[in-house]
Amino acid sequence: MIKFEQAIEIVLSHTLETDQVLIPLASSMGHFLASNIYADRDMPPFNKSAVDGYACRGVDIEKELKVIENIPAGYSPKLKISAGCCSKIMTGAKLPEGADTVIMVEEVIKVAKESEAADTGDFIRYVNPDRKKLKNNICLKGEDIKEDELVLATGTFIKPQHIAILAAVGSNNVPVFKPFDIGLLSTGDEIVEPDSVPDEVQIRNSNGWQLRAQVMRSGAVANYYGIVPDNEKSLKDAIEKALLNNDILILTGGVSMGDFDFVPSIIKDLGFEILFDKVAVQPGKPSTFAIKKEPDSNKTEKVIFALPGNPVSSFIQFELLIRPFIFKSMHSRNPVMWFEMTSVQDYKRKHTERKALIPVIASPDGTFSIINYNGSAHILALAKANAIAEIPEGISFIGIGDKLRVFLLQ
Ligand code: AMP
Ligand code: MG
Repeated sequence: MIKFEQAIEIVLSHTLETDQVLIPLASSMGHFLASNIYADRDMPPFNKSAVDGYACRGVDIEKELKVIENIPAGYSPKLKISAGCCSKIMTGAKLPEGADTVIMVEEVIKVAKESEAADTGDFIRYVNPDRKKLKNNICLKGEDIKEDELVLATGTFIKPQHIAILAAVGSNNVPVFKPFDIGLLSTGDEIVEPDSVPDEVQIRNSNGWQLRAQVMRSGAVANYYGIVPDNEKSLKDAIEKALLNNDILILTGGVSMGDFDFVPSIIKDLGFEILFDKVAVQPGKPSTFAIKKEPDSNKTEKVIFALPGNPVSSFIQFELLIRPFIFKSMHSRNPVMWFEMTSVQDYKRKHTERKALIPVIASPDGTFSIINYNGSAHILALAKANAIAEIPEGISFIGIGDKLRVFLLQ
C-alpha cells in the first residue's frame, strides 16, 4: 500500500500529450488554451469618460460653461475644449482634446432653465465646485491592459471571465489543446441503469453518470459505454473496445479483492503496467492506475484509472487523481483548492492506517462541520457537502478547534 500523496505524484508524472486545434470563440469555454494570448491594443484604447456628464477643464469648474458638442459613445470628438467650454459626454465615449475632467450630469444644472437637460449651445454650472473633492472621472488609455501585454497564459482553463478577454483582444479562433477522449465503463452484475426498476438485489448505476458529469466539467469528452457484467470475457472485450477510441479509460468496480474482480489481470494482459493498486486512503483504497507507453518511447500513450465502485470513492478519487491529471496534461494548474479550516466539533475514528477524506460543510468564517457519513456508498452525505476534509494517517481524534486541510467541491 502506498501513501495517497505518492499515488498523486505517480499519476502526475505520467501525463499525456495532446495536439493543438483552433476552435471558435463561441465554443471555447471548458477548453484549455494552447498558447499565450497577448493584447492587440491598449484597453481602454483611448482616454474614456467613466460617467455621463460634461467634459471640461478642471480649472474651469467654478465658471459657467458653454456646451459646444455632444459626444456619444462610439463617436470621435471634433471640437477641442478651451477655457469656458465643455462638451456633453456619455459613459464610454472618447474624451475630447483639452479636457481633463468630466463633471457628472447629476451635479450639473442648466443655467436659466434648471429643470431641463443641457445640450449643445446651452450653459451649465457645476453645483459642487469643491476642487479638493473633484474626481476627474476619466479612465486613462491603457490603464487596464497595455498593447502586447500577456493577458492569458497557455493552460488557462477557459471560464466565462476568460471569454471576455478573448473577445476583447479579438481572439475569434482560439488555440486550445484537443480535449482528451475519456471512456467510462461501469462494472458489476448488480448494477442497472437509472431507467430500470431494480430488483431486490440490484442497485442503480450512480457513479457512471456522476463520473460522466465530472469528466464533462473537467475539459474532456466523456464516452460512456454502459454497464459490463462481472465476467472476464465481457469485461476484456469492453475494455479493449473502449481503448481503441479513448486516451483515458475510467473503470469502476471490479478492483476490490472479490471473486469477480478481474480488472487488474485484464489490463495487464492488454499490455498495461499497473503503477499502483492499493492506496492508503479512505475511501479509495483499491484505486488503480495503469499506463501503456508508446512503442520504443518513454511517452505515455494511454492510461487506465480503475476505481472502486462506491460512488463517494469514485467521486473523490476522480477529483484528487484524475482531474489534476487532466489539468496537468493540458499544461494547467492543479484545480484542487485546499484550505486550512477549523473543526467546530469532535470526531473520532477507530482505524488510522489510512488518510481519511470525509464530507463536510465549510463555512465562510473558516470553520467546518462534519456531516453524518456512513461510508462510501452514502451519496446523500456527499450531495449535502460543499467540501472534503482530510484526516491524516495516525490521527484518531479531531477536537473542537483543531485545524484540518479541506478542499472545496466545485
Ligand atoms: P466493487 O468496487 O465492484 O467491489 O463495488 C463496491 C460497492 O460499490 C458495491 O456495493 C457495489 O454494489 C457498489 N457499486 C459498484 N458499481 C457501482 C455503480 N456504478 N453505481 C453505484 N454503486 C456501485
Ligand atoms: Mg463489483
